[in-house]
Amino acid sequence: MSDYQIATNCLHAGYHPGNGEPRNFPIVQSTTFRYETSEEMGKLFDLEASGYFYTRLQNPTNDHVAAKICALEGGTAAMLTSSGQAANFYAVFNIASCGDHVVASSAIYGGTYNLFAVTMKRMGIEFTFVEPDCSEEELNAAFRPNTKAVFGETIANPALSVLDIEKFANAAHSHGVPLIVDNTFPTPINCRPFEWGADIVTHSTTKYMDGHANAVGGAIVDSGRFDWTKHPDKFPGLCTPDESYHGVTYTERFGLEGAFITKATAQLMRDFGSIPAPMNAYLLNVGLETLPLRMARHCENALAVARYLQAHPKVAWVRFPGLTGDSQYELARKYMPNGTCGVVSFGVKGGRKAAEKFMAGLKLASIATHVADAKTCVLHPASATHRQMNDAELAAAGISPDLVRFSVGIEDSKDLIADIENALAGV
Ligand code: PLP
Repeated sequence: MSDYQIATNCLHAGYHPGNGEPRNFPIVQSTTFRYETSEEMGKLFDLEASGYFYTRLQNPTNDHVAAKICALEGGTAAMLTSSGQAANFYAVFNIASCGDHVVASSAIYGGTYNLFAVTMKRMGIEFTFVEPDCSEEELNAAFRPNTKAVFGETIANPALSVLDIEKFANAAHSHGVPLIVDNTFPTPINCRPFEWGADIVTHSTTKYMDGHANAVGGAIVDSGRFDWTKHPDKFPGLCTPDESYHGVTYTERFGLEGAFITKATAQLMRDFGSIPAPMNAYLLNVGLETLPLRMARHCENALAVARYLQAHPKVAWVRFPGLTGDSQYELARKYMPNGTCGVVSFGVKGGRKAAEKFMAGLKLASIATHVADAKTCVLHPASATHRQMNDAELAAAGISPDLVRFSVGIEDSKDLIADIENALAGV
């Protein structure tokens, strides 16, 4: 199946119906699974046999979708989570715990920043945030002996800076730790971070993958390439017996290709339980089937909107990595030659007040705390998603108070531009 092109895999990977079986995979809306003997069930609990016993740990519908996302990213194992927040939390917490340290790009989604800088800090994990365009020396200087991972977003929400994946991967590897990349914005259609050295990929599937504002969800994919066993002192959770799971050593039992995801499922999903409902996984799969078509249209429309905005006298600045001359254009061309995403950021002349007036004048685009949807949405991050940040933190995350985040949908771009034109006329 993985020999097919990505658009074909969006339709077919992860589920192969047998003769007379349903063409669409069933929604297995069952919390539990029946067994003939306690012995059979015991083997599942001991991870000695594979099978289903309780949906918090695994469910067939969820597994079909995880297998599809795994194929799209080119990984060896994947799991779904109930949200992108859970995916990023699990991905980091699977290898970093109290007393550990993580290096992260400062240009990341506000919710992820808060998760790291506030909530995980309370759990005893320290984060050092570095500018995505920092020099190699600055990046290397951020590491400590107890650093366990590096984290960044391929295209940051909402700063739209592009992560230099190779630079971050090289720094991570030279310090013996993996690079975790949140690939939500480009999706594997436009960028596959494993091809550039990333080790773990996460997603908020709530965004383009679902694409229709149907279901909150997340995913974690492992490349299977990071060799935890070369650094057993750094990753004891993967390289030494897990007493909470009958003494299993994940790297020994499941190999490099399966250790990370099996541990995250067996320990973190068991204890935190952020599993998606099978119905949500099914809806996510419906979105995945048309992902390549939608991504192409999102990118095409976003470029048209960005060009229009760039030429408008009431617009102070435009940020779109796909726009020639944008500070991120060269990085975008390297990592995403076929397109970036559908999100454009810009500032309306007149600052915060003008931005709010512009937004109130829009009729087709909805003001929504959402992004990467088939329907165009618009947001003023400084007063919404990033309101917990002070001005210095906002600046570090690449967000100015006048920034309007315009998530360009798949409507006809002529209608979108007419809506923007009308709203700008009222400013
Ligand atoms: N990562 C990125 C890049 C995001 O944009 C978001 C949400 O906007 C998240 C993670 C969190 O995902 P969720 O809202 O599905 O929990």
